[in-house]
This record gives sequence, C-alpha cells and structure tokens, in this order.
Amino acid sequence: MKPANSLDGELSRRLAALREQGLYRELRRVDSPQSARIQIGGRTLLNFGSNDYLGLANEPALKEAAVKAIERFGTGAGASRLVCGSMAPHHELDEALAAFKCSEAALSFSTGYATALGTICALLEKNDVILIDKRVHASIVDAARLSGAKLRVFAHNDPNDLEDILKWAGARTPKSQVLIVTESVFSMDGDQAPMRALVDLKDKYGAWLMVDEAHAAGLFGKNRRGLAEEAGVSDRIEIQMGTLGKAVGSAGGYICGSRVLIDFLVNRARSFIFSTAPPPAAAAAAVAGLRFIESKAGADRCRSMWRLVSECTSGLGLQTTNSPSAILPILIGDESRAVNTSALLRAQGLFVPAIRYPAVARGRARLRLTVTAGHSPADISTLTGALHDLGIGF
Ligand SMILES: *Cc1c(COP(=O)(O)O)cnc(C)c1O
Repeated sequence: MKPANSLDGELSRRLAALREQGLYRELRRVDSPQSARIQIGGRTLLNFGSNDYLGLANEPALKEAAVKAIERFGTGAGASRLVCGSMAPHHELDEALAAFKCSEAALSFSTGYATALGTICALLEKNDVILIDKRVHASIVDAARLSGAKLRVFAHNDPNDLEDILKWAGARTPKSQVLIVTESVFSMDGDQAPMRALVDLKDKYGAWLMVDEAHAAGLFGKNRRGLAEEAGVSDRIEIQMGTLGKAVGSAGGYICGSRVLIDFLVNRARSFIFSTAPPPAAAAAAVAGLRFIESKAGADRCRSMWRLVSECTSGLGLQTTNSPSAILPILIGDESRAVNTSALLRAQGLFVPAIRYPAVARGRARLRLTVTAGHSPADISTLTGALHDLGIGF
C-alpha cells in the first residue's frame, strides 16, 4: 500500500475547509471564443462575466493582426526584452499606448498583475510609504506588500481619510517618498474614484499618484482614454496604469508616463526585466485593439455598450447614478448563497459569476455582472427577467 502522502493529506483538509465556507473554486472549460455567448459543458450560455467590454477579444481586425504577426515574427519572443526579445510589435505597442494616452512614453508588460508588481516595487524603497484604497485589486495589494514600504490603507474613495494619513506620513522623520495607488473604476464594485480630489491631495502633500484604469481605459472620456481623461486630470497623474486584456481585447498591462519614468522601469522593474517578452502576436493584437478603440467604429461600439448598460440598470430598477459603469454588482452577502444563485442562473442559460473572498471581503459575496457591446437588448431583458424571477435586485 502506498503511504499516505502528507502533503496531499494536509491540502485535502484545507480544501475541505474552503468548501465548508463556500469558497471552493474550480475551473470551467470554455469551448468557444469569448463573446456574449460562450459554450461551457456542451451548452451555450449568455455570458455576463467577461471584461471584454467592447467585444474585441474575438474581433476580426485583432485576429488578423495576430495572425500576421505570427506569420512574420513567429510565436515566441524567445527572451526577455532586455536580452533579444524586444521585437518590433512590442515597440509598436509601446508607441501606440503613449499615443493613445497622450503621454510622453509607455511600457507594456506581460500582464496587468506583473505591471503593478514591477512598477510599485521599482518605485519604492523600504523607508517609503504606500497608501492604497481599501478596495484595490490584489495585484496592487501584493505589490505594496512586496515593496517593503510602509503600507497604509485608506477608506474606500474617502479623501478625508486619505488626507489624515497623508498628514501622518508628512510628519514622519526622516522624510520619505509617499505613493498613493488607487483604481479609477473599481473592478468588483464598478464605482469611481474621486479623481479631482485625489490629484489635489497628492499635489498638496507632494505625493506621487498611480491610477489603475483597468476597467476604464477604452470606455471613459471623449477619446476613451479612461476616467482620468473624463475628469480632465490625465496630465496630473504621474503613473497611469492599465491592462490590455479587458476592453483592449488582447493580453498584458502597461504604464504610461514621462520618458524618465519609463526609462527607470526598463532598468528597475523586475517583472519586466526577468520575464520573457510576451508573444509578438499578443502585442500586435493589442495595437489593433487600441486602433479600433480610437476609430469611429470604436466610438460606436462604446456608445452601444453604454446604451445597453443603461437598459440593464433601468431594467433592474437601479437608480441612474452619476457614475455609470459596465460592472453591475448585485450584493448577496453569504458566499454559498451567491454560488447557489449563480448556479440557478446558469441552469437557465445565464453565466453570471459569483465573486467571493478574497476577491471581495468576507460576507460581501456578490453576483458581478458585466454588460458588453456584444450583448443585444434582448439579451439584457433575458437577464433582467431572470433576476426578477429569482427575486434578486439592487
Ligand atoms: C484585471 C486587473 C489587473 C490585472 O491585470 P491582468 O492583465 O489580468 O493580470 C490589475 N488591476 C485591476 C484593477 C484589474 O481589474
């Protein structure tokens, strides 16, 4: 008989504990491209779970760009960008990002997660202070911890609390650099950071500001550059972060900012330096995604997404707020109940993911539904009808 493996035994116990708390997770295999409909387990489901807000993940122009890049550059980059992996599509992407965001320079990373980790850890030293919003993405929390800087969390979207902490940081001796990091549109709540108040505060206290526009770039502002553009504060944010796997329809992350910032990251961001460059096809698809967003077709696509968002919010009886978002969280609370509700919807052909700890706080489980430009008005009424029938609303 094989002796009991102590690793597997211990891990089985830990998994059982997760199950008990409604926190167990498993992968679901998708047999179709990302779109408003996805195929899971032989069934076609209406998809309200993806961040493919503009429907670009399966857009012909992006696929064509990726195929062309593969034909010309092959599939792998072969090395990190600082060795010999810095291929033409990566340079085109960095230039396209800077042009899109109207910044002096830009640098793309293989993922958004790697972007946050590499950038924050490069910028901060042990004596510095990092202030993060209570609800920022795990990549920023992990980066803050890994940086070794003094970490303080300010109450969600609360400039008064942030100011109190800035005063505390300013009184520290010896003086240290302070970095404030937040998201512009929050990934699990869909609400917006008070952008003007944040830039005013960071100026007043001489802090640096980093804003993650993962869920806003491509969707907000006259040129769809993000919430910073809409708030008119783009040129006052030192470190503008975003991702390429959501509205842009490809994969990766980026930082836009000054030439000096980008040169510094090339020299010091470890997740950039010690990692093989992304496949050239991913960079080429991202360039095509940015071009699409900048085009008239991109403007139209974005408008139709917002039309569907307002149909969905009014269909659910949500009061129109002054901070709309394609992310519509329906708070359930209990973890197991959220999972069960998601399963009920799935049985009716609707994929609406249950989001639980640690993505959100314990006891704050929710259905997180996202509206994309690929949905039809009929899809939205199917969803709102099903939610009504289950007695779920805002
Ligand atoms: C998705 C996300 C990231 C991570 O980006 P990936 O490219 O998926 O690694 C970072 N920040 C926020 C706010 C996100 O939602």
